[in-house]
Amino acid sequence: MNEDVPDFVRNSVSWNPWHGCHRVSDGCLNCYMFVGDKKRGVTGSDIVRRSKTQFDLPLQKDRRGKYLLHDRLILTSMTSDFFIEEADAWRKEAWDIIRKRKDCTFIILTKRPQRIMDCLPSDWGEGYPNVRLSVSVENQYTWEERIPILCNVPAKKYDVFLAPMIGPVHTDELLDEYHIDCIYLGGEYGPNARPCDYDWVLEVRESCICHGVTFHWRNCGSVLVKGDHIYDGLSLEDQGRICSSAHLDHIVDDVMPKYKQMTLF
Ligand code: SF4
Repeated sequence: MNEDVPDFVRNSVSWNPWHGCHRVSDGCLNCYMFVGDKKRGVTGSDIVRRSKTQFDLPLQKDRRGKYLLHDRLILTSMTSDFFIEEADAWRKEAWDIIRKRKDCTFIILTKRPQRIMDCLPSDWGEGYPNVRLSVSVENQYTWEERIPILCNVPAKKYDVFLAPMIGPVHTDELLDEYHIDCIYLGGEYGPNARPCDYDWVLEVRESCICHGVTFHWRNCGSVLVKGDHIYDGLSLEDQGRICSSAHLDHIVDDVMPKYKQMTLF
């Protein structure tokens, strides 16, 4: 990998112990997992399958007996949902793997926070130190629905992926009430992407600054509305340029000391 890439890119990786999902809300409409599978000619994306090659990825070692992944930020279940019902039989093993790899930080992202409590390991206590529990939300409705459920589960860290943002989200009220460590905001990408408005982004950022929450604008989506102008068909490269040149990121000290930001996924 290029030596110039920042640490957070070098240090993050996806771990997909199972693959396949069902849509649960508007944010799933253009789910990249279905799009990616279709492009590769893969059918049956709605069938949840345990991965033959990736299930034990965090425990895999090289020829010298060293873990392939060391001191990494691991994005968990990016082609499914860690708490999906069909994976109930495999989740205990996945927790065992997470427990063993204390040097790695696991971001566990879900759109099914109502299932978390029933799916925690027996020794969870106040949360594993190496797990950041996260929900993704796309609009005001899912923000108000999922944040209270997430924050009533004991955990060491809570993150929110406000992506794909498809409508304005007023975050002040719940950030007054609940502690969130980090909000990652992103638009939708792809040929059918729904627009994201720059003013929505600024409002969430302002709210994060007022509440001491780390804010990271990770991509602006394929369609960005800025004032009277609509930027359509933006490539990932364009999006990266727009986000980095806007300098909107707000990093709160000690929230994520090792991994200041995170790459796209
Ligand atoms: S929950 Fe996630 S993986 Fe499942 S359909 Fe929705 S966006 Fe896709």
